[in-house]
Amino acid sequence: MWAYDDSRSALADALRLSRAMTYKAAVADLAQGGGKGVIMLRPDTPVTPRLRKAALLDFGDSVAALEGRYITAEDVGTSSRDMTVISQRTSHVAGLARSRGGGGDPSPLTALGVLHAIRASCQWTFSTSSLRGRSICVVGLGHVGSRVARLCARAGARLLVSDVNQSRRRLAEQLGARWVSPDRALESAADVMVPCALGGVLNERTVPRLRCQIIAGAANNQLADEGIADLLATRGILWAPDFVVNAGGLINIAVELAGYDPALARRRVRGIADTLQGIFEGARTAGITPLAAANHRARERLKTGA
Ligand code: NAD
Repeated sequence: MWAYDDSRSALADALRLSRAMTYKAAVADLAQGGGKGVIMLRPDTPVTPRLRKAALLDFGDSVAALEGRYITAEDVGTSSRDMTVISQRTSHVAGLARSRGGGGDPSPLTALGVLHAIRASCQWTFSTSSLRGRSICVVGLGHVGSRVARLCARAGARLLVSDVNQSRRRLAEQLGARWVSPDRALESAADVMVPCALGGVLNERTVPRLRCQIIAGAANNQLADEGIADLLATRGILWAPDFVVNAGGLINIAVELAGYDPALARRRVRGIADTLQGIFEGARTAGITPLAAANHRARERLKTGA
C-alpha cells in the first residue's frame, strides 16, 4: 500500500515487484510462482481508518476473484492486522497473525535471511563470516531494517544507520550506532551497505559515489536497471542480488501455507547463505555478475518447473 502519482506508475511497480517475486520464489526453490498486489493511495488524499478498511476489503474481493492463483501477504505499508481484514473476503491470504494459525509478520524472517546473506557475502569477500568489528550501514530502519540492525549489533558489528524518519534516532542510540543523514547514507565508508528502504537506490548517479565493498539488503528492486550490476562489478563491489537476500519472508509464507512450523522456517531461511554462495561461485566460474548468475538459476528452474 503506497502513494503513487498515477495508476501507470502503480502498475509499473506491481509488474516490477511481481517479476521479482517470481525470481525470488524460483531461486529459493519454492513451489510458489510469484505475484504482487499493489493498493494505490493518492498522494493528496489522507487515508482515514474507514477508507483503509474499505480499500482492504475491495482488495480482498480482487484476490478472491483470482480463486487461489494469487495468494496475498503483507509488504510495505501493510501489517498482519491488515491481512486479518482481507481474510474477511478471501482465504487466499498469508502472513496472518500467529494467534490465527499464520506465520505472523514475515519481517523477522526476512531480517534473519538478510543477516545470513551479509555473513555469506563477508565470507566470500573477507574469508570470514564473522561480523565482529565489521562496519555495516543499514539504510531504512523499518520492519526489516530495524531488526537487521539489532542482529548486526548483537554480532559485534560497528553500525551506521539512517532513516528519513527522525524518530528512528532512538533506536540508533539504543544500539550504539552512528546516525547518518539519509541523503548521504549510501555514500558512507563501510564494509557492508544494507539497503532496507525503497527500490531504485543503485543507479548511474549513486554507484560512482559508493564507498563500500559489499551490498546486501532487503529492499526490493535495488538496481535502477540491470546494467547497474555491471557497473557495480566494474567498481569491485560485491552485490548480493536482492531477490535472493530478501527471500526470508516469502520462505516463511511458503512454510505457513503447508502448516506453520517456526523451526523449519528458520532452518530454510538460513539456507539463503548456501544459495548465495552457489550464486557467487557460479558467477566467478562463468565470468558473469552475481545478478546474471541468479537470473540464470531462476530461469532454469522456471523452464523445468522442477
Ligand atoms: P518499512 O516501510 O517498514 O520500512 C522502510 C523504512 O525505510 C521506513 O522506516 C522508512 O522511513 C525508511 N525510508 C524510506 N525512504 C528512505 C530513505 N530515502 N532513506 C532512508 N530511509 C528511508 O518496510 P519493510 O517492511 O522494512 O521493507 C523494507 C524493504 O524491504 C522494502 O523494499 C520491501 O519491499 C523489502 N522487503 C520487505 C520484506 C518484509 O518481510 N517486510 C520482505 C522482502 C522485501
